[in-house]
Amino acid sequence: MDFQRLERLHWWLLRLLLVTLLALIAVVGLGIYQGRLTRTMVSERLGRLFAAPDTVKPYVALIAGHRGFDTGAMCADGLMEVMITEDVTDRAAQLLETAGIKVQVLDEYDSALEGLQADALVSVHVDSCVPLSGYKVASPEQSVLPEQDARLRSCLEDRYGEETGMRIHANTETSDMFGYHAFQRIADSTPAAIIEIGFLGGDRELLVDHADVAARGVAAGVVCYLNATWATPPSP
Ligand SMILES: [Zn+2]
Repeated sequence: MDFQRLERLHWWLLRLLLVTLLALIAVVGLGIYQGRLTRTMVSERLGRLFAAPDTVKPYVALIAGHRGFDTGAMCADGLMEVMITEDVTDRAAQLLETAGIKVQVLDEYDSALEGLQADALVSVHVDSCVPLSGYKVASPEQSVLPEQDARLRSCLEDRYGEETGMRIHANTETSDMFGYHAFQRIADSTPAAIIEIGFLGGDRELLVDHADVAARGVAAGVVCYLNATWATPPSP
């Protein structure tokens, strides 16, 4: 290739780069203008793009079911669902942080849920005071990320059962779970699940006296999911 042709090629490549850059700026600008992108989202994404891979931690949000809103289920002796969800999510968050994961515990109707971008969102609830035992996990009904959602769900199902020795309370997931309000509010790119970690009735001993075991189950489910999907997996 002679020098002139090389120079022309160089010139074309420069132009191409410039046009791509302008198109990118236009797309991002339009996104911000239409409200689909916020400045924080743009800077977060740019941060991720340029950060060294091992300095980027996975980010997980946990919802302490009912916190900041109501008590959830309440038993005759005054035991409230929210007491358990708060305790278990706080403990699970500590375990996840120890494993090198960035965690935030959110209220039931936390404003941070609006467009939330995370590597996973898990909402923790407890079933009613009836003398039954078992846990259950549900994914969003209309999933944009069916594969990730299914994996998060199966990780939670497997690991929670392993850690607690509890059984799945099968086929009693309600529309409250599938159509959970937070599923509609978070960003499409955030995989999510809701787990009912047992019954205030039949599982009370584990939930009240061994909340650390329940927390381990939730945390292990999240770590299982991140290990399967995250480029540099957190240590278990
Ligand atoms: Zn609940």
